[in-house]
Amino acid sequence: MRLPKVTRFLATVATAALAALGAVTVDAAPAAAAVRNVCYNTSQAGPFASYAVQAASIWNNATNNINMAQCGSNLMIYYTYGGGSYAQRTSLGNGRVVIDYYQAQQYSPLRIMTHEIGHILGLPDNYNGNCAILMSGGSAGTSCTNPYPSSTEAARVDSLFGFAARSEVTSQVFTGSWPAPVAAGAQR
Ligand SMILES: [Zn+2]
Repeated sequence: MRLPKVTRFLATVATAALAALGAVTVDAAPAAAAVRNVCYNTSQAGPFASYAVQAASIWNNATNNINMAQCGSNLMIYYTYGGGSYAQRTSLGNGRVVIDYYQAQQYSPLRIMTHEIGHILGLPDNYNGNCAILMSGGSAGTSCTNPYPSSTEAARVDSLFGFAARSEVTSQVFTGSWPAPVAAGAQR
């Protein structure tokens, strides 16, 4: 799904306004929880750029402490052919997401995108097969297209981006996620 140009333009204006507000909040009220920008870059995302925009919108709607916008390159979005999708988090809110083109034809590309961004936002995998849990990833099967984090997952991100708990993952490097399908007969 692609947003009409006018809608996208308005979204960009709104995003810029939010970014400005966020900066003001940080300067004016350092003691309060401030919205932190997570700037993502879709220049290398190819056919998945629009999914990144949708996923960012989902995360923005689900959380209070982050604002994802195309304002820089904290988070680079790439795609590749085969090998599985994954996220590499270099620090909280920073890193890269790589979407496997073939996998995205099998699983919901929006769910994959939102899931991988979830890793960048500090969440670990939770392969419990529950489609209502975003970080259950591919364990919920190809029929699961839910791209929304649960309220618990969203609250965890807010907590991580809040001032108190931020140090938990800021220095933690993460690599992993949504493995490629294994050969028939094998179990993962
Ligand atoms: Zn994952």
